[in-house]
Amino acid sequence: MDQVEEVKSKVDIVEVISSYIPLKKAGRNMSGLCPFHAEKTPSFMVSAERQVFKCFGCGEGGDVFTFLEKIEGWDFREILEELAKRVGVKLKSYRGGDSGLQKEKILAVNRVAAKFFSYLLLDHKLGGEVRKYLERRGLKRAMWVKFGLGYAPNSWDRTFSVLNKKGFSPADIAASGLVVSREGKDKGFYDRFRGRLMFPIFDARGSVLGFSGRVLASEGGGAKYINSPETLVFNKGSILFGYFQSKDFIREKNETVLVEGEFDMLSLFASGIKNVVASKGTALTDNQVKIIARSCESVVLCFDTDIAGDKAARRGIEMLDAAGLIVKVVSLGKFKDPDEFVQRDPVGFKVALKNAANFYDFLIYSAKKRYDSSTVYGKKKIGQELLPVVSKISDEVVRAHYMGKIAGVLGVDPSLIDNSEKYNNETVVNNSDRIDNAGRVERLEKYFLALYLVGDSLHHDFFKILDKNNFENSECRAFWSATHDIIKSPKAKFKRRVLESLPKSFKTFIDDLYLLDIGAEFLDDEERAGEMVRMAKRIRELSLRRKLREISELMRKAEQKEKSREVVKLTKKFDELSQALKEGVQDDKKVT
Ligand SMILES: [Zn+2]
Repeated sequence: MDQVEEVKSKVDIVEVISSYIPLKKAGRNMSGLCPFHAEKTPSFMVSAERQVFKCFGCGEGGDVFTFLEKIEGWDFREILEELAKRVGVKLKSYRGGDSGLQKEKILAVNRVAAKFFSYLLLDHKLGGEVRKYLERRGLKRAMWVKFGLGYAPNSWDRTFSVLNKKGFSPADIAASGLVVSREGKDKGFYDRFRGRLMFPIFDARGSVLGFSGRVLASEGGGAKYINSPETLVFNKGSILFGYFQSKDFIREKNETVLVEGEFDMLSLFASGIKNVVASKGTALTDNQVKIIARSCESVVLCFDTDIAGDKAARRGIEMLDAAGLIVKVVSLGKFKDPDEFVQRDPVGFKVALKNAANFYDFLIYSAKKRYDSSTVYGKKKIGQELLPVVSKISDEVVRAHYMGKIAGVLGVDPSLIDNSEKYNNETVVNNSDRIDNAGRVERLEKYFLALYLVGDSLHHDFFKILDKNNFENSECRAFWSATHDIIKSPKAKFKRRVLESLPKSFKTFIDDLYLLDIGAEFLDDEERAGEMVRMAKRIRELSLRRKLREISELMRKAEQKEKSREVVKLTKKFDELSQALKEGVQDDKKVT
């Protein structure tokens, strides 16, 4: 056993977490108020059996290492040292493997480079011009320091040679992306960032992952902004500029103000709007959305682009909406960007922020402004623009609200337009089934599996009631099928052995099942068996109903195309399934 394993095996996650927040017994788990988001009823669960935690409110979860990383901001090494101290393990020298080592080196190169750039900006004569530039743009020195701004000298090798003199090898400097390698007879390296204002990009713990460099207005040449290339530590799609400095304010306000550019971000922050980050463009990425959704519940977009007309921006908003965030939009009025707005009219900006319209209201408003809703042509255009967007709203109630609003604008009955399948290209029979399918079926299936995993042994009986195809959720289906493969014989198996035989990829899935809250009464074997039979039958019933809907849809199509033989075949299948469903339901009544 290596030392990491040794420490892990001796640490108790319940003990560690209890030293931060009070935990109470909840069924077979412990629960408490989540330290990572504000809540009044506990949704933070800890499983002693699996040594993992998860918050069902904000989604944070993991093992004891993840917990300490999140709450203390420590890196792996620091956590290991702390835990080793707690459990009395003496650490020999530790290395995080080759890629771990390489990452450490890149971070070290970046750290030294950031210091060098910052020194030039703050105190060196070479930084004179960029100092004037920043002052002209209204950014004070305290902000340069807070955000680690710097200046990369206008030279082909200055940065390289400074780093080299500090003891970094050319290979390590190249791995950081700060230099570009040159082929041919002048083989070697030259500085990537030359004569640029430098914005370091930090991770949530304050390590410099990479840089963004801007040309100064007075100089020409090259792209306005260039970024570090992808490295072992830098991934452009995950950047939110300013997140390190603003994350606590975002959590506190439970809202992120999202702007496009570095200067927008800095100006807002300087004027006291500190829950702000820059996305560096209108096209949001999955990772950016995830970071935002982890930190708060609503987003105010403050883009200089015309959001209603910008496809990339609209796609980003759909992603934010799908992640469960409330999306609002600030209208910039006569100003060209948030930077200009907040500097010229700070009070007005705060008012605009407070009055930010819900994104969908904004869209409707914008469409009404551009098209004449009293003409047939205008109505058609408004419908074409708004209906596909609004039909994708994930929340049923919110969607109905906006469908109603659009109907009002078009002067038609809401029922005429709320026909969302048409816009989403999904064949769904009716909306109530759709809601059912969205979350409830998955919850039910996971609840059943969570019950199945209570106790020391796993029984074969339930495979008789439930076939893997009865599960709608693909993870549940895969888990059920893999477990069935292991428990082939009708005899019960030790749970520990079965779980050990399952592929490693199921680990998180199983962790989550353990963390599900199941009532204390179901720790009793008999009570649990009854509940499981009820749940298994319900899952099967829902799966039969889904199948029936599918077949009736196929029948409808076959009838339309007058394929009579197929209709007969499908009708027979339909009858069989209906019969099975009826029997199942009668069975169910006997059981309950
Ligand atoms: Zn939470």
